[in-house]
Amino acid sequence: MKIQSLCALALSAVFLAAVPISAQDRGPFDILITGGHVIDGSGNPWFSADVGIRGGRIAAVGDLAGASATRTIDARGKVVTPGFIDIHSHGSEGLESEDARRRVAPNLVTQGITTVVVNPDGGGPISIGDQKATLEELGIGLNAILMVPHNTVRRAVLGEDYMRKATPAEIQQMRALVRQGMEAGAFGLSAGLEYVPGIWSDNDEIVALVEEIVPYDGFYSQHQRSGAGVPIWWVPSQDDPDDTGARKYNLIDNINDLIEVGERTGARVVQTHLKAKGANFWGSSSAVISAVNRARERGVEVYGDQYPYPTSGSDGSVSLIPEWALGIERWSDRQDAPDYREALRRTLADPSMAEGLRRDIQHTATYRGGADNLVVFDYPDRSYIGKSVAELAEGRGQSVADFAITMQMEGFSDREGGARLRAFSINEEDIEAFASQPWVATGSDGGISLPEDGPAIHARYYGTFPRKIRRYALERGVISVEFAVRAATSLPAQIIGLRNRGLLREGFVADVVVMDLDRVRDMADFTNPHQYAQGIEYVLVNGNFAVDGEGNLTRLLRGVVITPAAGRAPVSQ
Ligand SMILES: [Zn+2]
Repeated sequence: MKIQSLCALALSAVFLAAVPISAQDRGPFDILITGGHVIDGSGNPWFSADVGIRGGRIAAVGDLAGASATRTIDARGKVVTPGFIDIHSHGSEGLESEDARRRVAPNLVTQGITTVVVNPDGGGPISIGDQKATLEELGIGLNAILMVPHNTVRRAVLGEDYMRKATPAEIQQMRALVRQGMEAGAFGLSAGLEYVPGIWSDNDEIVALVEEIVPYDGFYSQHQRSGAGVPIWWVPSQDDPDDTGARKYNLIDNINDLIEVGERTGARVVQTHLKAKGANFWGSSSAVISAVNRARERGVEVYGDQYPYPTSGSDGSVSLIPEWALGIERWSDRQDAPDYREALRRTLADPSMAEGLRRDIQHTATYRGGADNLVVFDYPDRSYIGKSVAELAEGRGQSVADFAITMQMEGFSDREGGARLRAFSINEEDIEAFASQPWVATGSDGGISLPEDGPAIHARYYGTFPRKIRRYALERGVISVEFAVRAATSLPAQIIGLRNRGLLREGFVADVVVMDLDRVRDMADFTNPHQYAQGIEYVLVNGNFAVDGEGNLTRLLRGVVITPAAGRAPVSQ
């Protein structure tokens, strides 16, 4: 009897459990996306399903034939994915703009980006609370996640006397500022250790500050001390070639430091915009990948992120002539429009300085991928545009160093180097090796841009996420489309610690993209960067259309500042 009733109970439990599945939520929905291939963000292969959205949440995923909805989108032949989470974004300037056209973030939502993580590279405001209030008051076109910026914190405590280690008392003050930021709703700490004043911090300082984010389950994102054989600011004539201290780091030293931070604190740590810069440093991705994999085997939670381009942000403003040779004081804020020719003449008049200058030019050319990979984008003699420095130097019968001097003397006198150059300092093998790692997310390192911002904008501002899918999944087959979508959705959600975004599942927030894989592609290049990506047909931010049909921006400002409390709430059914 007892056994029988238990069986009956068990049977009815099975029956009851089956009810919600067979009686799936059938609407009515606010939005119903029918007939698409769902790539749910987990990395699993696509499956056929309809997606029903109500009240800003994904209410149902499955066969929803016959369900009614306020708005139905026919997604036959298309794929439906979660909205993309950009884990390294310089979008906060645009989001805080008085100009609502920027707050719409047109170049981001048209890539399918629905959430940006801002204040990267250690830069951003000291008050996370004020920033949050500003964004909420202004209204923003996509969701924002805020980070505490290390460089700002360091500057606030050390003031102008920052070219040194912090004292224990100063570290205590910095700890308090980090804690304040986390209390105000930040998700973690960002650092920019190749920049002022982060250059002079040591790893103990970083460990101390990361300890402050651990009780909040925060993550640490680090702009490298060096992405190459030496840091970006290092030049042979000015810096000690035998210095083996932290200031002459290469990328591998830097990764080891990051792993140490993870190991000592237990925090999730991220090497942001992973890249191996410099013609003499290409191929180093394999050493970085091994170091990270070994650390992960020991239980250190290390991640990376990457933008899929062979050229960096600073590659877009390369000057082959170093600052010192133009009379610019190191680490100073630039002064406008001096006559750099005059300063260069003085440098050349001193034989030992002239010799140092030529060494530095050669170093910079190699660091930036070699003279073949340095391309002129603006110069008074228009015939130079589109040509490489190697080609132009050869045409004039000059060495690269002499031609660099010629460009300063004959080019724009108020521009460092005399020309606008873009270097292609990163090679494809390293990009592909990093893109293939399961712990590497996609991050644009871009910001918000409008066409009036001019031609010097990096193409990644407009094309990062579609490019990863088009070039690295569909064309080159380095990764699958599902892997690329995962790197843009559930992986960054896991790193950040979001529990209700990044997957297309019932109860998750309705950040959704509908795209046509036959057509999806980045259109922006370095001559015409202001071109929206193609093939992204619909983008929903919190269940509201940001893109309603390709090319149709709704300009709604329905993004929110995601706080840890909201972003980590369990999914609601
Ligand atoms: Zn950076």
